[in-house]
Amino acid sequence: MIPNDPYLLTPGPLTTSLSVKQAMLHDWGSWDNDFNQLTAEVCTRLLRVAGGENSHVCVPMQGSGTFAVEATLGTLIPRNSTTLVLMNGAYGQRISKILDRLGRRCLAIDKGDYHPPRGDEVERTLRQHPEIDQVVVVHCETSSGILNPIPEIAGVCQKAGKHLIIDSMSAFGALPVNVAELPCAALISSANKCFEGVPGFGFAIVDKTLLSESEGQCHSLSLDLHDQWRYMEKSGQWRYTPPTHVVAAFLQALREHEAEGGVAGRLARYSRNRDRLVAGLRELGFQTLLADEWLSPIITTFLSPDSPDFDFPRFYEAIKARGFLIYPGKLTVAESFRLGCIGQLHDEQIDAVVAAIADACQSLGMPVPVPPPAAAPDNLENH
Ligand SMILES: *Cc1c(COP(=O)(O)O)cnc(C)c1O
Repeated sequence: MIPNDPYLLTPGPLTTSLSVKQAMLHDWGSWDNDFNQLTAEVCTRLLRVAGGENSHVCVPMQGSGTFAVEATLGTLIPRNSTTLVLMNGAYGQRISKILDRLGRRCLAIDKGDYHPPRGDEVERTLRQHPEIDQVVVVHCETSSGILNPIPEIAGVCQKAGKHLIIDSMSAFGALPVNVAELPCAALISSANKCFEGVPGFGFAIVDKTLLSESEGQCHSLSLDLHDQWRYMEKSGQWRYTPPTHVVAAFLQALREHEAEGGVAGRLARYSRNRDRLVAGLRELGFQTLLADEWLSPIITTFLSPDSPDFDFPRFYEAIKARGFLIYPGKLTVAESFRLGCIGQLHDEQIDAVVAAIADACQSLGMPVPVPPPAAAPDNLENH
């Protein structure tokens, strides 16, 4: 850690290791073979983690994660086809907004703020709407922290012969996935989430046949994933200026991911972080939005206590003064805040953030344990 930097309990950008930051202390020529080798190794490693070595290709895209989502949807989805979007939060809504903007027809199953889309309802919708060609789902819906039932949905899509596209931005690297076995047409993620790199590019792991067939389909020049792929295949280079330092940092992050035991190792640490955070905060009187079954090891939503002394901006500042940045809630139904479990956070930091939250409550004049939330939304166990 750099002294006095706060720890980020936000789900990307997140706290990176010192060695990942140090990997950015060099300048690279974007056309030079030394840099091309970094890109090639990044793609090879990502394909291996995704289990797509024989069926898929990895195509990076400059920009934040949303740029990679827009590039993938715009490239793979034919202009006159219909897409089903499974929504249960802000990132699902963003997918449907992108499709609208691209003029791609789309239907949605909208489960509101935090209920999971289930296989049976997807199956029913696909039967009622045979015109649907592909389904898009968010793996971990970061706005509530819910872990959506991907294998269940993939099974339904496969049976119905529909392509599945997964926004696995905040899950890939920490939750096991095998794109060939699921199967899925494309899985999208970015550098600054569970692989613990710095922000600057996203990537898609795409079915090779499908990508080959998508030439000329994209609405955009700079976001054309097919063009990016072909150019990279031919030259080893990114089509336009790559985020060189970010790529170098990401390769270091991938090596550290492997050294930690890959997906299994990371899942174990993040799950431990979540369990310790949830237990610590429950002891302080806080309640989670979701039942344990749906809690992801990525980010957890806590309901705000029903107290006249609780005020999120003051709560945030009090915790920041103690060395941690937390995340506001993103629900329409209830006051809440979120704590991320990802990044360079270990037992020591988790215990320290729980202590900081206890102190912050007291500095706001609240008793500990804190009062319960106003009204607990209906429990997920019924859905
Ligand atoms: C972070 C994230 C994105 C991408 O967000 P950007 O701000 O564009 O990086 C997309 N989907 C999910 C589920 C995410 O968590």
